[in-house]
Amino acid sequence: MTEHLNHFIKGASFEASDGRRINLVNPVTEQVYGSSAQGTTEDVDRAVAAAHRQLEGGAWSQLDGAQRGQLLSKLADLVERDTELLADMDANAIGRSPIEPRRMDLPNAIANLHAAAGWANQLEGRTIPTGGYFGTKTLSYTVREPVGVVGAIVPWNSPLMITVWKLAALLAAGCTVVIKPSEETPQSALHLAVLAQEAGFPDGVINVVTGYGNEVGRALCEHPLVAKISFTGSPEAGREIQRTAGVLFKRVALELGGKSPQIVFDDASFEDALRGCALGLFANQGQVCAAGSRILVHRSIADRFGAALADAAQAVNVGDPRQPGVQMGPVAKKAQFDRVNRYIQLGIDQGASLLAGGVSTPERGWFVRPTIFTNANNAMAIAQDEIFGPVGTLITFDSEEEAIALANDSSYGLAATVWTTDLVRAHRVAAAVKAGAVGINCWSPLDANLPWGGVKTSGIGREGGFAGAVAYTEEKVITVLLPS
Ligand code: NAD
Repeated sequence: MTEHLNHFIKGASFEASDGRRINLVNPVTEQVYGSSAQGTTEDVDRAVAAAHRQLEGGAWSQLDGAQRGQLLSKLADLVERDTELLADMDANAIGRSPIEPRRMDLPNAIANLHAAAGWANQLEGRTIPTGGYFGTKTLSYTVREPVGVVGAIVPWNSPLMITVWKLAALLAAGCTVVIKPSEETPQSALHLAVLAQEAGFPDGVINVVTGYGNEVGRALCEHPLVAKISFTGSPEAGREIQRTAGVLFKRVALELGGKSPQIVFDDASFEDALRGCALGLFANQGQVCAAGSRILVHRSIADRFGAALADAAQAVNVGDPRQPGVQMGPVAKKAQFDRVNRYIQLGIDQGASLLAGGVSTPERGWFVRPTIFTNANNAMAIAQDEIFGPVGTLITFDSEEEAIALANDSSYGLAATVWTTDLVRAHRVAAAVKAGAVGINCWSPLDANLPWGGVKTSGIGREGGFAGAVAYTEEKVITVLLPS
């Protein structure tokens, strides 16, 4: 079936203003299976205008928090109803097994929408005691107002879930949105917008403009009526967005990349750590921002752990993810395939040893073999750069201090995992590691109520939890003079 996808603006489907289109390519077959509208500045103008009208006296602006919450609950139910369809959309677009989004992305997205339904009615202001105004008493209170039209720019690796992280919070806060999905994965965002219409959200509250980052993304960042950019993606694009939107004083939230350490102490449960490290390396073909791609292992268990991890890598059944028994599909696109292979070659050239995998040369499809390096050091490119593929780098340490120093010797700081059965050490190391989220004996737990985001090059701001909704508001203070 050939997919013909268009923008969704003010409740209706639109071609790009100049008719251009972007091909959608299947990563398993490398065949074109459809196309999406290649958005223009004019398309962005139209979508932002629709979103802005809803805030300026439109039906959306008249709803209170409880009413917004009811709509979010309905949307959650519809997403649940269409779980299989949405999981298939995301999986097919990037060659991922649909089992992962069914088990992980969709339940998380549904939980986020339900949680946000509750947040919508809890965005309270404060009353603040003050010293009065030139001798006269005053009453000062604050209200939380929606920040305005949000430009939500989303990557391809977990498109529905990441779109919902933004959408749930900003709708709870009373904002409206123009979503720019990744050019590889527009399907689920478009379906989400249709479901929102079915739930009863007024047309124009949720708009989707498909297209490229340097056209649609840039136009959102430059648009005078866009108040906030919520971006998830690479540090390179994040830097560009910060430059463009930042100078215009737009609010900017950046969820960027990672090179997350998994620290395996010699007292860890070997089997648990092995399972967790394999999951952190190979889930979604390693195309996960929190991928635990730096495995820091105590020297006394390093050989045994490396051998076991290599066995686990070799046991992964790579192929067409729709076939039974296949655990890992291809990486999402040709550029990603080239990037992962380039880094594997760089690891070899810089002197690391392969325990499993290596440069891949499949006949067709962007398949990469799960790859494990050992004899690596933390200065190598494979230890410092985000590869975004199923590639793990093992580095040994001798002491807890060294493990912490290695963990923190990174420009990134998104996530980290500590594997140990020593409770005191677990908390001590978790406190010392510079990251937005640390898992103790579990890799990258996600929950609608937990904040998510990074330090250093991993980004600015947090999504998730009640504070994630607060981040889409401005606090306004109102002071009334109370003469006696
Ligand atoms: P990307 O930066 O290439 O693209 C992300 C989105 O930004 C796409 O929609 C793209 O079209 C758009 N874009 C690109 N350049 C832009 C520009 N100059 N202005 C405006 N928009 C622009 O990233 P990707 O390859 O889609 O995703 C992979 C990256 O995303 C990895 O670095 C990964 O770690 C990161 N990521 C982070 C998180 C997180 O929560 N921290 C989650 C998932 C992915």
